[in-house]
Amino acid sequence: MSKSIEVRNPRTGESDYVIIPPSQYFLAQECNRLRRGQSLWLQLGVEKRVEALQQWKQEILTLRDKLVSALVDDTGRLSISNLEVDSFLSSIDRWSQLGPKILQETLKDTSIPFIQLQQTTVPYQLVGVISPWNFPLLLSTIDAIPALLAGCAVIIKPSEIAPRFIKPLMTAVNNVSILKDILTFVEGDGVTGAFLVENVDLICFTGSLGTGKKVAQAAATSFIPAFLELGGKDPAIVLPSANLDLATSGILWGSVVNTGQSCLSIERIYVAESIFEQFVKQLVQKSQSLQLAYPDLESGEIGPIIPSRQAVIIQEHLQDAVEKGAVVHCGGEVEKLGGGWWCRPTVLTEVNHTMKVMTEETFGPIMPIMPFSSVESAISLANDTIYGLSAAVFAETQAEAIEIGRHIDAGAISINDAGLTAMMHEGEKNAFKLSGLGDSRMGPSSLTRFLRKKAFLVKTKSIHDPWWF
Ligand code: NAD
Repeated sequence: MSKSIEVRNPRTGESDYVIIPPSQYFLAQECNRLRRGQSLWLQLGVEKRVEALQQWKQEILTLRDKLVSALVDDTGRLSISNLEVDSFLSSIDRWSQLGPKILQETLKDTSIPFIQLQQTTVPYQLVGVISPWNFPLLLSTIDAIPALLAGCAVIIKPSEIAPRFIKPLMTAVNNVSILKDILTFVEGDGVTGAFLVENVDLICFTGSLGTGKKVAQAAATSFIPAFLELGGKDPAIVLPSANLDLATSGILWGSVVNTGQSCLSIERIYVAESIFEQFVKQLVQKSQSLQLAYPDLESGEIGPIIPSRQAVIIQEHLQDAVEKGAVVHCGGEVEKLGGGWWCRPTVLTEVNHTMKVMTEETFGPIMPIMPFSSVESAISLANDTIYGLSAAVFAETQAEAIEIGRHIDAGAISINDAGLTAMMHEGEKNAFKLSGLGDSRMGPSSLTRFLRKKAFLVKTKSIHDPWWF
């Protein structure tokens, strides 16, 4: 029997939920069961797989309230929990449209006239998904849906910090008979995660750099592909020509949405010297207009810091910055309210790259701003990081902003807005540097990652092979 794990409620600070990770034996059995189900799932064909996912969607709609309520308990925030559910359901529809088109197979002539190429694909049998706590539903399903449409069976292990949503989702899975043989969610922490990596044929991991390295090593030992989506320290660059109102609103949203607990949060802001003061003034004003969603869920826009360990990191980064000379314009502290941890939008100036807040992932609603004197220095500051997830550039013209974006070492650049990859899933992008590994989880490659290519090389005429001796 595995040891149970207590789950803390981010609003009350109390442990009010328990998960019981599966034993290694049970997990291995589950993986075998799903692998057995996969061959029928594949034979069904993509149109029937789309139907099954659409049935799942209908089941989810009937228990939507339970799902939202579980996500609220997991994360302490309401509107983003609703957004997660909407986005998850619309991704089922998006993939239902796209999947069949991507999976069309073709016959091709080759350079040899009597040989035809039939290019086919074979999905990996069992895909493992390991996900973090910051968007528990979205990040546990973002890879799973294209993998299912590709014809794989999928086993998902969400974070032990936000696992309450698993129950309603599994109820919906169990109500679709074909799905329950090829899709499951398991509860558990890193021990279960590590064991999962050993039992699947491909692993999609979203989480921290430290854990990502362990997963990559374990995947290499098992000789399976690993797709890693890790941390970030996204910069925003604001040029003198930028529309200040647009830039301050975009950057504020990009920094504080989900209380900054987002991999593609804007965590560093570089502003042209000539507009620096105005920018800071506007950003502070707009930051101060946002309220904590406390005591009620709908009292404001800023939810609690989800795990206590993140509150410790945010506090540590703030303290380090202030000790090294940073000036706090608003916010600036981690408060304990009603048992939960909270942090108001915080604007800092007089910051530099000796500070943790400019170099390490903070994952909080913190906006440190540095002035720059030349575009070259802004680009060099933006690239002074181990990460390369995404970035934002604000300028009067698209051409001006895109030209700067070309020099930033990151896989997705939002132009005149921030965090657009969270909204728009069509653009393929890689995570640069230590932000990840493997093909894009956005765009068509999100699905083709789960396919192995197989070529049938067909001799079409009964002639003697000219190369045979
Ligand atoms: P984490 O690395 O602590 O945990 C992520 C998951 O890995 C959890 O489910 C955990 O149980 C599991 N795990 C822990 N040890 C493991 C092991 N040895 N083997 C296998 N699995 C193991 O990360 P977190 O704190 O949950 O998430 C926050 C991090 O995730 C941040 O760094 C954030 O930037 C990153 N993130 C990245 C993206 C992206 O798309 N790039 C999206 C969201 C979050």
